[in-house]
Amino acid sequence: MKVKYKVSDKLEFELEGSGQKEVFKELALIQEIFGEEYCGLCKSHNLKFVVRNVEGNDYYELRCSECGALLAFGQHKKGGTLFPKRKDDDGNYLPNKGWHKWSKDSKDK
Ligand SMILES: [Zn+2]
Repeated sequence: MKVKYKVSDKLEFELEGSGQKEVFKELALIQEIFGEEYCGLCKSHNLKFVVRNVEGNDYYELRCSECGALLAFGQHKKGGTLFPKRKDDDGNYLPNKGWHKWSKDSKDK
């Protein structure tokens, strides 16, 4: 079955799955990565996707054009999929759903 899924005014996805479970999985992935509607700090909808390359590694992040906050994405070791970093290294939830201002001390430089 084919599904059109509109995340926002700017993003619309077309996906295909052989059954409900496959479509469900695809939707879950899209929502997790592309479903972020507003900045966790200033609630602005003015977000952009940014990929930075630092010393040969790609860093994926969403950046708020209003206040400059960012939401970093980690990469699963298997499958090459992304996930939003909403927890710290100890598994505790970060404030503001993981949105933060970049600082020299942050690990995701
Ligand atoms: Zn913001």
